[in-house]
Amino acid sequence: MSHFIRTRIPITQTIGFLKFNSANYQVRHLNLHEYQSKGLMDKYGVNTQKWRVISQSQEAIKAVKELNAKELVVKAQVHAGGRGKGTFIETGFKGGVHLCKTGEEAERLSKEMLNKHLVTKQTTKEGTKVNHVMIAESVDPKRELYFAIVMDRKYGGPVMIASPKGGVDIEQVAEETPDLIFKEPIDIFKGIKPEQTKRLAEKLGFTGAKVKEAQDQMASLYDLFVKSDATQVEINPFAETTDNKIYAMDAKINFDDNAYFRQKEIFAMRDFGEEDPREVEASKFGLNYIGLDGNIGCMVNGAGLAMATMDIIKLKGGIPANFLDVGGGANETAVTEAFKILTKDPRVKCILVNIFGGIMKCDIIASGIVAACKQVGLKIPLVVRLEGTNVQLGKKILQDSGLNIVTANDLDDAAEKSVKSLK
Ligand code: GDP
Ligand code: MG
Repeated sequence: MSHFIRTRIPITQTIGFLKFNSANYQVRHLNLHEYQSKGLMDKYGVNTQKWRVISQSQEAIKAVKELNAKELVVKAQVHAGGRGKGTFIETGFKGGVHLCKTGEEAERLSKEMLNKHLVTKQTTKEGTKVNHVMIAESVDPKRELYFAIVMDRKYGGPVMIASPKGGVDIEQVAEETPDLIFKEPIDIFKGIKPEQTKRLAEKLGFTGAKVKEAQDQMASLYDLFVKSDATQVEINPFAETTDNKIYAMDAKINFDDNAYFRQKEIFAMRDFGEEDPREVEASKFGLNYIGLDGNIGCMVNGAGLAMATMDIIKLKGGIPANFLDVGGGANETAVTEAFKILTKDPRVKCILVNIFGGIMKCDIIASGIVAACKQVGLKIPLVVRLEGTNVQLGKKILQDSGLNIVTANDLDDAAEKSVKSLK
């Protein structure tokens, strides 16, 4: 369930501790890199440091020159928080966030990070490969605060969350001193009320003219949240600097995937390199696919049947390698692609096809399977259970193909045969 876990981690880490039920989040959320989020925040008038992004360490000198700052911060760009306390797996180099003063130092630091895998408490133990490094002018935080807006099921809308004890240990703060976490639910129809941001600004310890300034920053972040269909905007640290400015020093923004049709510009920033390649491939063909950790590849039509198939596989002592609903309207190409994704996955040691042909006819499925098998050369057991419209025709296509296929009479039989084929 790798994709789910990765996209859910920010939610679990940031709002899970606030007793939001992250298990309720069924939607997937587009994740952006920090530099992409900051580009977006700039457009909404949120204060961010000047920054450049590089993908080769040699580019650091030029970036530093352009930034023309006294001090710089060099930051690994991965879809995971906790970078500051992370470690690079290949070298043991500590920290994905470093301060420095010169172009040469920035280059050396970038070299330590680029093309290496960074492990943080939000990544897998294999870590995430760093393809981009952000170099920014450094600011000097006097106080590191926390501010976030999340779409919350319990409140039925957005909630602002703030804490005066932001920074790298926010999870611990939430655990040990939950009374230092403040929340303001927002009425999405009316928007935020000034008294709400004022209350939070004061809880964050702002005084005098800074209260209004902090309120304005919160309002800009809310504007971004609503207009870009975000599900989470997390700023940690939200900082007050020694020269009395307010900065969004770090940003983690997620977006509702269902808003793709009206947020094309944002979705164009999607970094496929950070996602499960099986899921990326599947999404190109409109397949409803989620990678899992087992070894029985499933191809099913209908989400309900797909869930039932996974359950029965488990009941019979097997573990599914994926959830895959080819859908009612899938054509032969989609079926072929689905099949290719399953056979390409080294985890998959057996394939179970369970199709109830209604709108999607059995012969189409069968032709797709045969076409795919011919393209990839099937080397693992294939168990097929077909039922419904054109089932006889479908079965005939499979038989005539000369492929080695185990047929099953019902779901129970199919699952049992799949599990058995692994032994
Ligand atoms: P994270 O570890 O992935 O959350 O990355 P952050 O961007 O939040 O950076 C981690 C920590 O590094 C922050 O909490 C700050 O303490 C520190 N930090 C980040 N940027 C700067 C900066 O520009 N100047 C200074 N002095 N510290 C920074
Ligand atoms: Mg942070």
